[in-house]
Amino acid sequence: MKLLGYGFLFALFLLQKGFSATPLDFSEYRFGQNNRRFFETIIKDLMIEYGQPVTTSYGKDFQAKIDRIVVDEDKMEKYLKETQNPKEQEAIARFILAHEYFHVALKHVQTSDRVRSVDGVEILGTFSEARKQMEQQVDHLAAKYLHQLGLPTEPVQRLFLSHPEFHGGDSYPSAQERVDSVLRGARPGIEESYFDNQFIKCTFAFRALVR
Ligand SMILES: [Zn+2]
Repeated sequence: MKLLGYGFLFALFLLQKGFSATPLDFSEYRFGQNNRRFFETIIKDLMIEYGQPVTTSYGKDFQAKIDRIVVDEDKMEKYLKETQNPKEQEAIARFILAHEYFHVALKHVQTSDRVRSVDGVEILGTFSEARKQMEQQVDHLAAKYLHQLGLPTEPVQRLFLSHPEFHGGDSYPSAQERVDSVLRGARPGIEESYFDNQFIKCTFAFRALVR
């Protein structure tokens, strides 16, 4: 019954909201120059859509902090250069930022080896096992977000498969597992198995996203 409940809430979450995003023309993105307005627009869109406030800062690596997203402009530029057209660029940029945004919204960043239960997120397995699930959760939700906006997920799948930094580790899913979470984003509803399994259980975080 609980699973049904989540499904119902998420169906509401997907249906009720208009999923609108500020139009962004990535043909105006200028490599080697300041493109922060693109990132800030995307993060603002996410806040409007999901209600979780975050601030933005710039630095090394994409990171989710308790209430902040760190944007790595060099990495973003590298990934955007590998795309074929502005729509693919928009898909990559929105996916990466949505991934970090959902880590904040789902309270993942508040958990650790020692903090195993916070705000409706409960870690049942080892922290590494739970971490892998968290990555799949946010990849899955970010892929659903792209679908809602009519953006392609193929560039994201290529990104995972072609960069060794996405090829897994102790606390990270393999590239193929990440592609799977993205592909499952094309199906209706959400994959509840990512959110309630032997390694992690998310409850309140869902409701918080529904508003
Ligand atoms: Zn992540």
